[in-house]
Amino acid sequence: RIAYVNGSYVPHDEAYVHIEDRGYQFSDGVYEVAAIKNGKLIDGARHLDRLWRSMEELQIAAPMARAPMEVVLKEVVRQNRILEGIVYIQVTRGVARRDHAFPSFTRPALVMTAKRLSYDAVYKKAQSGIKVTSVPDIRWDRCDIKSISLLPNVLAKQTAREAGSVEAVMFDKDGMITEGSSTNVWMVTKDGTLVTRSTKDNILPGITRQCVMELAEENQMKVEERAFSLLEVADAAEIFITSTTSCAMPVIQFDDTVIGDGKPGPVALRLINAYMDFMNS
Ligand code: PMP
Repeated sequence: RIAYVNGSYVPHDEAYVHIEDRGYQFSDGVYEVAAIKNGKLIDGARHLDRLWRSMEELQIAAPMARAPMEVVLKEVVRQNRILEGIVYIQVTRGVARRDHAFPSFTRPALVMTAKRLSYDAVYKKAQSGIKVTSVPDIRWDRCDIKSISLLPNVLAKQTAREAGSVEAVMFDKDGMITEGSSTNVWMVTKDGTLVTRSTKDNILPGITRQCVMELAEENQMKVEERAFSLLEVADAAEIFITSTTSCAMPVIQFDDTVIGDGKPGPVALRLINAYMDFMNS
């Protein structure tokens, strides 16, 4: 495997950053994960839009212009010979003597890696569905920024893992679902309406969320962007989660509650089919 580190393509096992990189010391950085299908980047423009927005919100200078970054991205995919997988992009504020405030002079650090992931396997998994576990959302007020500061997400996912679940679904102090530890969460009501929390409401604006929303609308499904509660979930016809790595993944069990008839629902299955078609198109 080959990694890109600040201007060089190096063997993955020999890819290092400085111990005083602010990403390492303060989580002072942002990231993106984008899918590769048939050797091509999926929704690359939207991922780069979101990366630029994350950098701007944190006043991290872009390590390079957008066009050369697209070239590097393609090169990382090519050098790793990946037809199906994901690319990881990370930008940190750079290396500086440890001090919380922004350093006056530092060059942002850029790292990219890529790895294989079988979307056939994801599709297969979707045919049986997954279990999720709910945990309180203990994050901050800027979850719209795709920050590498992921400790609450790490703790949430670990809790889920220990409960035998694939994903942790987080809820706020009012018992309203925010999002998954690395996914957006959707509900299908008994009258067939798709419901997902608004991106104005302190969650990450998922690229897959946006794409699935467009596919749902193209398929004449009704979508409502609003908060929904843990109580509503118990009464939902279907639940599913979306992300770059899980596409549209049906949830068949939410804590101790079996969703629907305990099998992936027709809406989620239609959407993952549509999403796979989109990836292949
Ligand atoms: N929410 C959170 C907290 C995430 O980390 C992710 C994955 N990056 C998502 C949602 C899904 O976003 P996307 O569809 O862009 O992968």
